[in-house]
Amino acid sequence: MTRIAILDHDRCQPKKCNYLCIEYCPGVRMGEDTIIINEKTKKPIISEELCSGCGICTNRCPFNAISIINLPEALEDPVHRYGENMFELFGLPVISQGDVVGLIGPNGIGKSTISRILSGELKPNLGDYENPPGWDEIINFFRGSQLQEYFKKLSTGKLKTVHKPQLIDLIPEYVEGRVDELLTRADERGKLDFVIETLELEPILKRDIKKLSGGELQSIAIAAAALRDADFYYFDEPTSWLDVKQRLNVVKVIRSLQEDGKAVMVIEHDLAALDALSDYVHVLYGKPGAYGVVSKRRGVRVGINAYIKGFLREENVRFRKSEIQFKIKPPTPEEEGETLTEYSNLTKSYNGFQLNVEEGKIYLKEIVTAFGPNGIGKTTFAKILAGVEKPDKGKVKKKLKVAYKPQYLKSDFKGTVREFLHLKAQGYGTKIFKSEIARPFSLEELEDKRVEELSGGELQRLAIATTLSMDADLYVFDEPTAFLDVEQRLMAAKAMRKIIENKDSSAIIIDHDIIFLDYISDRAMVFHGTPSIEGYATSPTELRKAMNSFLSQVGITFRRDKETRRPRVNKLNSFLDRKQKEIGEYYYL
Ligand code: ADP
Ligand code: ADP
Ligand code: SF4
Ligand code: SF4
Repeated sequence: MTRIAILDHDRCQPKKCNYLCIEYCPGVRMGEDTIIINEKTKKPIISEELCSGCGICTNRCPFNAISIINLPEALEDPVHRYGENMFELFGLPVISQGDVVGLIGPNGIGKSTISRILSGELKPNLGDYENPPGWDEIINFFRGSQLQEYFKKLSTGKLKTVHKPQLIDLIPEYVEGRVDELLTRADERGKLDFVIETLELEPILKRDIKKLSGGELQSIAIAAAALRDADFYYFDEPTSWLDVKQRLNVVKVIRSLQEDGKAVMVIEHDLAALDALSDYVHVLYGKPGAYGVVSKRRGVRVGINAYIKGFLREENVRFRKSEIQFKIKPPTPEEEGETLTEYSNLTKSYNGFQLNVEEGKIYLKEIVTAFGPNGIGKTTFAKILAGVEKPDKGKVKKKLKVAYKPQYLKSDFKGTVREFLHLKAQGYGTKIFKSEIARPFSLEELEDKRVEELSGGELQRLAIATTLSMDADLYVFDEPTAFLDVEQRLMAAKAMRKIIENKDSSAIIIDHDIIFLDYISDRAMVFHGTPSIEGYATSPTELRKAMNSFLSQVGITFRRDKETRRPRVNKLNSFLDRKQKEIGEYYYL
């Protein structure tokens, strides 16, 4: 059995512990160099050859900086290792022309590492970080697979790759000018009109790139990547900040590359979008931050189902204790439970925008999801409930204390996560905070990091956790799933549910990930109208009714997978799509 030792350099603080790991290591006590000190960094180096795997150092380390992991036996040789006691990657996805291949897996499992290797930015070292191999050896390593040809071309500069990055909010820092200028410059494939029409970019063509919202930037970044002429396209989380309709527009644009015979890879945590995007998927498993393994390639339905079940049959690997359960909820009887608040028909106008809300009730301990496009009045509605904004007409019966997590998060706090939590989180340090908030959101591993340096997913976890710690009657979360991986989305859903029940409160969750919405909704409200001009909100109603009303407006139908019951998008004009539209059952049969 192969063993790897991973040291988290951010967490390891020898000055504070005086090398407890070395002091207690039985190997060291017997005079062996099982753990030595790196003269340059002053941090420990753990010898994977000498280590017996007793686990004493992991327990003794006060900062949880060491992981000692036994690798599954059947692993082949690694493709890359960043360095001594650092992350190791096993396997690569199969990239082939005319196919979209999707990657599913947790954050920190090696997806970006894979994309950096395939785009030529990172030369794979086959695990030998001390004497990295040359291209001949690398190409030989992949002999017999499609990757051999791929690396041959890549190594001779004959392969052009294009990449849509994960963090689109950085784009305005290095791109200047107007949207139409940028897209015209990018249009090497002569597809400008198709992309503008499909992504509905007409209204923002004349805008300055520096003045775009997150969702608009996302669409522009996808458009610019798809317009380039390349051999290999890679899209990192193309759906964040987009509403359901926009997500499916993105699917059309990315699928058009496949239809032109291009090779495409997508990393995506919205499983309904990934399902509609991909021909094949690879599941990534292992231990985030320590090692990642790329599974065999599977057809998209089978692959996503295997992911939902947490079990890869061919590899005989279980990577989650249990299956993700999708329940088809029976219609909620309308009069049930205690009421948190109720409101009459409401209207609210700003200069140029009007919101009309149909009267409704919110019950105690329920989660109401709200969906619809951006700029349609969802936040305004939450502010009216909170009493921050007064409606022009209508009344909310009881003024509520609202805790709110905004859609776009700022990371400009100067200090560590610990300092941030001290200042902003209620009950930080108490037992309840630890068990109900810190643990599910894995806050402990973030505490020593600086808020400014957190990744998108880490910042999201911190923001949701801080909001949940507040004392409130109603919690409002605007797009909590952005940048979270699938496991974190589920974990967040469970933590939200538990805290809302324990605190006798309720929540409104605005999101666009259909699988997450399906999983978390008790009831739902639909916002429709014309963004920035006029918004209408229906009263909270059962999910299926709400979905029918929403999906009929965007012209999309969903069915349920027979095996896992997860929602799947129907192909436009397919038999089921036509049948469901005919009988008005847009959500499922
Ligand atoms: P994902 O994209 O799945 O979130 P990444 O490929 O970014 O994962 O990272 C996988 C692991 O590799 C992470 O634990 C990260 O800390 C580590 N890692 C990434 N880049 C480097 C690097 N340049 N040096 C050392 N470790 C790295
Ligand atoms: P959503 O939450 O659905 O994205 P919002 O409720 O934030 O939508 O905004 C709806 C519309 O109202 C947008 O056009 C927005 O620009 C406008 N708006 C929101 N707040 C104000 C305000 N305080 N003053 C003027 N206009 C506003
Ligand atoms: Fe100290 Fe832990 Fe670092 Fe060892 S790994 S030096 S115990 S902080
Ligand atoms: Fe030493 Fe045991 Fe840690 Fe290996 S697991 S480095 S043998 S303490």
